[in-house]
Amino acid sequence: MTDEFDFVVGGGSIAGLTFAAEAARRGARVLVAEEHAVIGEPEKCDGLVSLRGLRRYGYEPRPEVVQNQILSAVIHSPSGRHFPVNASALDVVVLHRSAYDRQVAEAAASAGATIMTGRRVMGTGEEEGSVSVDLGGETVRSKYYVDATGPSSSPPRGILPAAKYEVEGEWIRQPAVELFLDAELYPGFFAWVIPYGRNRAKVGAAGRGISPFRALDAFLSGRPSKILRKVSAPIYVGGPVDNFVVGRTILVGESAGQVKPTTAGGIMTSIGGAVAAAHWACASVRGGNLRLLSNYQKDWGSRFMKEMRMMLRVRRVLESLNNADLEAVISALATPRTVLRLSQTDFDFHASALLGALGIQGLLRVATVVASAEVRSVIFEG
Ligand SMILES: Cc1cc2nc3c(=O)[nH]c(=O)nc-3n(C[C@H](O)[C@H](O)[C@H](O)COP(=O)(O)OP(=O)(O)OC[C@H]3O[C@@H](n4cnc5c(N)ncnc54)[C@H](O)[C@@H]3O)c2cc1C
Repeated sequence: MTDEFDFVVGGGSIAGLTFAAEAARRGARVLVAEEHAVIGEPEKCDGLVSLRGLRRYGYEPRPEVVQNQILSAVIHSPSGRHFPVNASALDVVVLHRSAYDRQVAEAAASAGATIMTGRRVMGTGEEEGSVSVDLGGETVRSKYYVDATGPSSSPPRGILPAAKYEVEGEWIRQPAVELFLDAELYPGFFAWVIPYGRNRAKVGAAGRGISPFRALDAFLSGRPSKILRKVSAPIYVGGPVDNFVVGRTILVGESAGQVKPTTAGGIMTSIGGAVAAAHWACASVRGGNLRLLSNYQKDWGSRFMKEMRMMLRVRRVLESLNNADLEAVISALATPRTVLRLSQTDFDFHASALLGALGIQGLLRVATVVASAEVRSVIFEG
């Protein structure tokens, strides 16, 4: 039996659509099935991303998709102390995320991919060297199934409850992203404010075991706001999964855990995953050699794995700190030297940047001021 497609992609968001664009450009027959009726909706992601990262892969957003340029970041301690970092050299912008997904969908369609909306992948089965994909009432056959269904297939241990509101308020500082650390209110994560227009911001909160809507309501209680939109949007912080390829299923994006464990940012790392996956998957189809696919994980890992491991260590530290520790760590970070070095680094590799900016002396300062034994063991691990 001949295959109808080289690739059927489950999930028409950034990872699935990038894969489709890249594979179709190489002449592959690609079908994308997205369960929602409109690409990019409902929008959950805040769209904070470095343009440098997107340019690297050739997926620069159109000017009308960029909502704001971020010039600084402000980190707040539990007691209300804060320190600003100049981010003007980091090329960080806020995207209208659903419009960005539609831009990539257009690129995929014009390269020849077929995109079906309102179609859910119900299941897959491998047979005779191909995969059958159940689209609910219709089954299609493909050489490979590409799982780009996002957090629905991420390991549950890595998921934190989170919610985000879009709000309007006089208190919003136009060009600054703000992070609010508090181990009691947001254990293992933080609350955030990402401005995207005049007096408008995407405001979110996440943390282990919290009720994110309650946390956000409390956060906004002292900040008079008109709420424009509310969405429940769990985040994934568990790190890459062990295997990106399982039989004839190729995992890309959040399905493969290609998300930063520190901030849950996954746009650039998912695009990186989709580009590498499409390259090796097309080579595998062309050469009839399944084994070539293993290069996908190696390729992505050579770019991101060192940073992901470091981010997982930073996450372990964050999860083990109490509020007194957080105050001490923030004091250790807020030296002129560290702040200057942070302002000159790469947004996409911020764990290396943070550890590099702290230097040995800074790390020792952190290790001596915090109570947590876990922190010391992580710092001195290597
Ligand atoms: C609140 C929040 C804020 C975030 N903010 C940022 C940020 O500022 N910057 C950043 O870089 N990252 C951010 N992220 C992370 C980023 O959104 C994800 O890492 C990225 O979208 C992952 O892309 P993906 O294509 O792998 O998965 P997703 O974007 O999750 O897309 C999965 C797609 O699959 C579809 N789907 C699911 N199941 C099926 C099925 N069975 N059949 C068909 N379709 C299916 C879904 O409808 C969806 O369209 C944020 C995430 C959240 C939740």
